[in-house]
Amino acid sequence: MKSVVFIEKNPVTKRLRNVSLELTYKAYTLSHPQGSEVVGVFCGEALPEDSDRLFQFGMDRLLYHTDQRLAQLHSLAYKQVLEAMIRAEKPEIVLFGATHTGRDVAPLIASSLKTGLTADCTQLYTDEYKDRGKILYQMRPAFGGNILATIVTPDHRPMMATVREGVMLLPEEHLQNPVRMEEFAIDFNDIWLKSEFMEIIPKVKKVDLAAANIVVSGGAGVGNRENFRLIRELARALGGEVGASRAAVDFGFIEKDHQVGQTGSVVRPKLYIACGISGQIQHRAGMEESQKILAINKDPEAPIFNIAHMGIIGDLNEIIPVMLRYLKEEV
Ligand SMILES: Cc1cc2nc3c(=O)[nH]c(=O)nc-3n(C[C@H](O)[C@H](O)[C@H](O)COP(=O)(O)OP(=O)(O)OC[C@H]3O[C@@H](n4cnc5c(N)ncnc54)[C@H](O)[C@@H]3O)c2cc1C
Repeated sequence: MKSVVFIEKNPVTKRLRNVSLELTYKAYTLSHPQGSEVVGVFCGEALPEDSDRLFQFGMDRLLYHTDQRLAQLHSLAYKQVLEAMIRAEKPEIVLFGATHTGRDVAPLIASSLKTGLTADCTQLYTDEYKDRGKILYQMRPAFGGNILATIVTPDHRPMMATVREGVMLLPEEHLQNPVRMEEFAIDFNDIWLKSEFMEIIPKVKKVDLAAANIVVSGGAGVGNRENFRLIRELARALGGEVGASRAAVDFGFIEKDHQVGQTGSVVRPKLYIACGISGQIQHRAGMEESQKILAINKDPEAPIFNIAHMGIIGDLNEIIPVMLRYLKEEV
């Protein structure tokens, strides 16, 4: 089952987006056991500076089309170029990062190819389906996150999915595929450039949860914005970042940039401390792959304890100050 992966560049660092590496490796695990290729497709003003790294994560070939007119995202132009590449390769699987560009372009291509697209998948695997042989199973939370749906595209090709950054794991060991990059020629039509860019204002990210080794998160159980200082102090004492549940964000305890979960950041720190968080599926979607999870909750039945490696049952207002005293060596 041949896979095509949309390859993206971070416009600020000019390097590959992590999601491109993550999806390349995922595609490798889907296609290589069946003796099939993984092909990357890229369009933009210039290739990412570190494109070679794709071949350490299972890429077989990278098709690219570079043109100064593609420096900014022009949805129609990107769609035309990428669709032409996909049609030429005839893959069975096509993966896009659920980035701004991926979310914009993938549906245009799926609709043009008259095939299905599953957005924000959390798991992808291949298996037999009725009399169709192996197909792609695409899992994602559905109905407000209350169920995990498994979606298949049995009758149309390619089978298309988007995945958010941080959801798929990268291997520790690198592969050593030979670097094969091929320029893709297309008659570029200026009519595809429908938008005019007046000014680009980069969003300044205040927190980098994904890069943190320790994340201390607070939920509705923290009670109020003032009390959230306990979470900040614990994070500071441990040298970690501050996270939050959506309830804590919705109550105004902390800004949205700190939200962890299905509609926030996906994190995989060495230690995740969940304080006053019940552990609903939408929160777990963003943190359950953490290496160690410590939950502090006064309800022994809270679902967070089902995934926590360590748990403290009790009031966070009593427990966190004790932890802080220990950390500050006051006892
Ligand atoms: C489409 C959709 C997307 C969503 N996306 C996200 C998302 O990205 N991230 C996210 O987090 N949620 C998300 N949610 C919301 C999610 O369903 C939950 O509502 C939310 O995670 C609950 O947050 P919470 O655990 O902080 O609050 P609650 O569920 O209210 O839990 C509070 C917990 O605090 C405990 N507690 C109370 N007082 C104390 C105390 N003094 N000491 C210790 N423990 C205490 C309680 O026992 C309880 O377990 C989403 C929902 C939908 C429908």
